[in-house]
Amino acid sequence: MTHGKIFVTQPHLPPLAEFIPYLEEIWKNKTLTNCGPFHQQLETALCHYLGVKYISLFTNGTIALVTALQALRITSEVITTPYSFVATSHSLLWNGIKPVFVDIEPTTLNMNPARIEAAITTQTTAIMPVHCYGHPCDVEAIQKIADNYNLKVIYDAAHAFGVKNAAGSILCHGDLSVLSFHATKVFNTFEGGAIVCPDAKTKMRIDQLKNFGFVNETTVVAAGINGKMNEFSAALGLLQLKHVDQAMTARKVIDSLYRELLAGIPGVHCLDSAFETESNYAYFPILVGHDFRIGRDALYQLLKDHDIHPRRYFYPLISDFPMYRGMPSARRENLPVATTAALNVLCLPIYPNLEESTVKAIVKLIRGD
Ligand SMILES: *Cc1c(COP(=O)(O)O)cnc(C)c1O
Repeated sequence: MTHGKIFVTQPHLPPLAEFIPYLEEIWKNKTLTNCGPFHQQLETALCHYLGVKYISLFTNGTIALVTALQALRITSEVITTPYSFVATSHSLLWNGIKPVFVDIEPTTLNMNPARIEAAITTQTTAIMPVHCYGHPCDVEAIQKIADNYNLKVIYDAAHAFGVKNAAGSILCHGDLSVLSFHATKVFNTFEGGAIVCPDAKTKMRIDQLKNFGFVNETTVVAAGINGKMNEFSAALGLLQLKHVDQAMTARKVIDSLYRELLAGIPGVHCLDSAFETESNYAYFPILVGHDFRIGRDALYQLLKDHDIHPRRYFYPLISDFPMYRGMPSARRENLPVATTAALNVLCLPIYPNLEESTVKAIVKLIRGD
């Protein structure tokens, strides 16, 4: 095949020349971190772009998750999904909180709201769902349960940058939403993350927690962490923001092409593009059914043999990792839909400059002709 190694994603970088003036600015003002000018500018710019009220930037999404839980003083048990990146549950363990896994819905692979109520105990304090692949959770149903049982909701929105529906940004739901700007995400600052919050008071507490708990030069009010985004990453974020719409449009073209070319291949099921949602086309997951000509792992290997590197996001399930698998809620019988999805899913390469000819070559390999 004529292409080089094709990975599931390729970090999106702006033209280097466009970044030089930002670097010159940093070298001139010598502010490298501690919520400097680029940090402040990026917070403002992201609020505008995403259509949210308040944002606090972080060094990465995982520290942002850990801090979000602390900001709301979440303890004891939190209901979450096993079908995610391991950082979702790890953020709970880092706070000494017990994750309680509930199963997902087969159409969206998001947490099934109908399973939440049965998992609530007297120890439950919050729900942590994930907008998997950027596909919005059933936010209304989740909020209703949270209101009934007086629970907080923290969304792991690491996949949901820029996702909107008719009501606006999907990041405005729940008590807090957490973003990741890791190199592999739709919008990246090399490493980075953010917490979207609804009011100034919450943002102030989060800003303190990400700076060791300092409220002023001499007062420390909490055992905060160092979670601040540095000026280099913040400056890059400002520049990335200028290119992100174009990147998402390019992803959309690839998404449509995959859907068109994969249609009708027996045993290959594309996840529905969310109805009435403005997606970010961050991932292109397919489910490989029993009626496909070979198994999912055989297809994964076949593509790898041709220098195509898809990813089995999410396999294994979080609940199958050693630090979780002994928990009662981690039993496979409790999670049949997630267990099946993890065995069938394959995320195909998608990124702005993925060539049409490569997409065609990938589909040809899948089709087997
Ligand atoms: C990427 C990701 C994270 C972690 O974000 P980092 O910025 O890499 O720490 C958390 N949850 C989900 C669902 C992710 O995909």
